[in-house]
Amino acid sequence: MGRTKKVKSAGRYGVRYGLKLRKKLLEVEKEQKKKHICPNCKKPGLKRLAAGIWYCKKCGAKFAGKAYVPG
Ligand SMILES: [Zn+2]
Repeated sequence: MGRTKKVKSAGRYGVRYGLKLRKKLLEVEKEQKKKHICPNCKKPGLKRLAAGIWYCKKCGAKFAGKAYVPG
């Protein structure tokens, strides 16, 4: 029986590393999907203009925050 040689999956970086990274990405995604409350008018109208720049649709406030999460 010629069993085909199977390469051990994800051997080089290990499964743990990938899982950790994926978890982190999931967290970021979750944060992005949440409604962000504007610290100025307390309404969930925040929009991310660019990495670290946030804009409030309700009151027009623009401010710097973290890349993916305001403040
Ligand atoms: Zn606002």
